[in-house]
This record gives sequence, C-alpha cells and structure tokens, in this order.
Amino acid sequence: MELVSLPGQGAKGKVWLVGAGPGDVDLLTMKAWRVLKSADVVLYDALVSQEILALIPNDAEKIAVGKRAGKHSAGQDEINQLLVTKAYTRNKVVRLKGGDPFIFGRGGEELQTLVAAGVEFEVIPGITAASGTSAYAGIPLTHRDHAQGVTFITGHCQLQSRPMDWQGYANPHNTLVVYMGILNAGIIRQGLMDAGRDGATPVAIVSKATTAEQRCFVGSLEQLEQLAADPELQMPALMIIGDVVSLAGSLNWFQPQVTAKTQAASQANT
Ligand code: SAH
Repeated sequence: MELVSLPGQGAKGKVWLVGAGPGDVDLLTMKAWRVLKSADVVLYDALVSQEILALIPNDAEKIAVGKRAGKHSAGQDEINQLLVTKAYTRNKVVRLKGGDPFIFGRGGEELQTLVAAGVEFEVIPGITAASGTSAYAGIPLTHRDHAQGVTFITGHCQLQSRPMDWQGYANPHNTLVVYMGILNAGIIRQGLMDAGRDGATPVAIVSKATTAEQRCFVGSLEQLEQLAADPELQMPALMIIGDVVSLAGSLNWFQPQVTAKTQAASQANT
C-alpha cells in the first residue's frame, strides 16, 4: 500500500486508538470518554453504539468507516490512509472501535501504518465482546470446576489460507469464544466434533450483548447450526462453547429491557 507522505513535514496531530466496549455506554472507560469529549475528528466502526457516538462533541468531524459482513463502507487500506491524512491536518484524531481495538479489531495493522508514517499515537483498551457477553449473560469464562482456560478465536474461517486448529480447540476443560462465527456455525460444529469435542457440550450464542436487546440462545454443540439460524438472532453475536455455559441458568442477572417484538417472539415459543 502506498502511504501519504508529506516530505519535510511532521504530522500535526496524534491518534488515539480507542476501544468503545461491546455496547452498553457505561462500559466505556473514563479515559476513552475524556479523549472522545475533546476529539477534533472521530473515525468510527459500525459496531460502536449510538449512545457512545452521542458523546462526541457536535463540532467534531464524525466519519463512519465501519465494516459489516458483506458490506464494506471503506476498505482497510482506505481507513489506514485516512487516519494518516487526518493526523497531518487535525490535532486530536480518535479511531474508535467496538470492544477492544487489539482483539479482532485490526488495531495493530492501523498502528503499523501510523508508525510507518511517523504519526504519534496512544491506545486505550476497551471491554472486549467476550468479557461483556460473559458478564451480562452470566457465563464465567473460567471456573475451577469447569474450565482452566479460555481461548478467543475468529470464526471467520479462512480455511484455505489459514486452517483452523480444531485439535487445539477441542480440550473439554477449556472455554472457546468464537467471534464472527455465526455464518460458519456448521463448519465450527463439524471441526470441533471431528476433533473429539463432545456434541453435548453446552453452547450459548449471545446477540447484541450488554444492550437492551441482548438475547441468549442456549443449547448443545450438536445444535450449533440450529441456534445460529434462529430468526430472532440479530448481529453482532458471539458464541461461547464449553461447560461454563451450564452456569448461565443460575447466574444470568441481567434483565434486558423486553421490547414488544421480543415479547411476542417469546410468547410464540411457549
Ligand atoms: N474488537 C471487537 C471485536 C470485533 S470483531 C471486540 O473486542 O469485541 C466483531 C465480532 O465481535 C462480532 O462478529 C461478534 O462476534 C462480536 N461482538 C462485538 N460486539 C458484540 C456484542 N455486543 N454482542 C455479541 N457479540 C459481539
């Protein structure tokens, strides 16, 4: 990729790579909030909630660069280029991303571009979807009786170029959290079961976690495709696979605001 280079001139501004958390505005860190309130320009992703965008000052420039499965509003090279251009022309540039910028957020790639262009930056972590979902669905990711470890993987399986390590993910004493996996539920179920993970392993798919529209679909690994195909399931959604999911029934403290639509759906299911 070709970078903007403005010979003889340093970048005027600095970039803050900021994690916005999984949705609930109250899960934003105080540092992120402070930086957002004084931003000159904010480049934000599709996953950042409206309530968080509302914290950006009116006179700041807001640029949507979000990507959603299948729909690209800006390519990654274009975003990298835009960040550099903004850093050369504005003082305080915020790159706002859903969850944590270093977990499946391409934050590393964007920073590498800034380094190459000589732009200063800071990183502000965010609560990643796995932590937000786990907390709000009442599913501890580790538990002495159920899981000694947890692994975060992308379910955006690029099977040809980067084969998935199914054997590595089949350990029954480990919790597996799958980001971006809904469209590949069949491949994930098959890969894990072929590698020896029990089809009866509890799984949860949690959609719009930490928001008023959170829904949790619980079943077993062998039912993963059916759960992922539920017409009530909205994006974004995360899969949690492992025995810890069995705790959700007793630990799910969060009562999302029930909308007329979800109420009608749950009545139809009874
Ligand atoms: N950097 C982000 C992840 C970006 S990848 C983070 O740290 O959370 C996008 C994936 O994150 C989605 O496909 C989905 O699997 C998950 N995700 C993000 N927000 C979510 C939410 N509120 N509820 C459920 N899953 C979410």
